[in-house]
Amino acid sequence: MAAKLTAEEQLNLLVEFGKQVSTEFRLDELLDIIGNHITKNLNVGQCTIFLKDVEYGELWSKIAQGKGLDHTEIRIPLNSKNIIAYVAASGTSVNITNAYEDPRFSIELDMVTDFKTVNMLAVPLKNNTGKVLGVFQVANKKDGTVFDNKDEGLLMLLSTLASSAIEIARLYQDLNISQLETIYRLAITAEYRDQRDTKEHLRNISIISYLLALSLGLAKERCNLIKNASPLHDIGKVALADNILLKPAKLTDQEYEIMKAHTIYGGRILEGAHSKVLKMAHKIALSHHEKWNGKGYPKGLAGEEIPLEARIVSVADVFDALCMQRIYKAAWTPEKAYEYMLEESGESFDPRIIEAFKKIFPSVKKIYSGDDKSV
Ligand code: C2E
Ligand code: FE
Repeated sequence: MAAKLTAEEQLNLLVEFGKQVSTEFRLDELLDIIGNHITKNLNVGQCTIFLKDVEYGELWSKIAQGKGLDHTEIRIPLNSKNIIAYVAASGTSVNITNAYEDPRFSIELDMVTDFKTVNMLAVPLKNNTGKVLGVFQVANKKDGTVFDNKDEGLLMLLSTLASSAIEIARLYQDLNISQLETIYRLAITAEYRDQRDTKEHLRNISIISYLLALSLGLAKERCNLIKNASPLHDIGKVALADNILLKPAKLTDQEYEIMKAHTIYGGRILEGAHSKVLKMAHKIALSHHEKWNGKGYPKGLAGEEIPLEARIVSVADVFDALCMQRIYKAAWTPEKAYEYMLEESGESFDPRIIEAFKKIFPSVKKIYSGDDKSV
């Protein structure tokens, strides 16, 4: 219990807390760490971290430890009468000893979260310039006592320690989102010329590649990279002339040779990239038309010489190309395309990836019937 901690124990706790929060840059994970730490060290039934969303004028909570409230997202308007909004607006703490008899307490949150608040403490989360970033709220001390000044002091200290880590993680998240958005829009630009359903095509490839990567048991981070890098597979098509890219008929041998160069162009566009996602996109753009049997292009690589990510995207790309109408071909049914993919196992495609494709096919089919709500 926090109130009974010795000065040395408290110092150790703060050092440990500082160490943990300063090494985590992912916002969700960081909020998890903070929430877990507070729940444990203040020995409370529930801890909720609210962050300000200035754009929408709201406070939102991603994290809520304790009974009935694991990872529920809650949103509260900043200008409401809610006690949390009050703490955010005033920058002062509120300590309520008997929640249901206190007129400042609103029971809406308890109703949403199926939690009965008995007593609660809410402190503002301020950065080092004093700007309020959000609110830390804890409820129901497990030893049955009410929150006292020591609890308040400790929670304030933890919130001060956490604030810069939270600010950095939010910046990091914004940067990451804007990087992924830019990549995605770049991919749309490249595909825009030859496909009417550009977004659908890119989304399908991204989802199928991601599901294949997951099914193959790759690490979550690598799966996410594949999901985000795969839309750039045909970026090299920006360098192709209209008379080839938009030809509404079969390409001549000579035209097909020129078309094949989209892999080389893609490789050149992405060469020397530093970010993980663009490095992976480079491999994919260059090698997504290589075939397992060595008869693909541009290099004629075979088997495991072909980067795994490119082998995965190749399966997703061909399946989707078959199912879609193109300027030069009609759409196949997913079932017919599926049969083709199985026939090409060990020829165009890595057999291990086709085995994974078989497993995910029920989910893939839903994408094409338009009733996937999941991914
Ligand atoms: P894409 O349309 O995105 O097709 C990607 C890959 O899907 C193709 O790579 C091929 O492996 C497979 N694919 C697509 N449609 C069919 C089909 O009807 N039958 C079979 N068996 N496989 C199919 P590929 O062949 O190396 O082509 C790369 C890109 O070259 C295509 O991307 C498309 O943009 C272009 N392309 C290929 N053939 C033609 C064509 O006859 N006319 C035109 N205008 N473009 C073509
Ligand atoms: Fe391609």
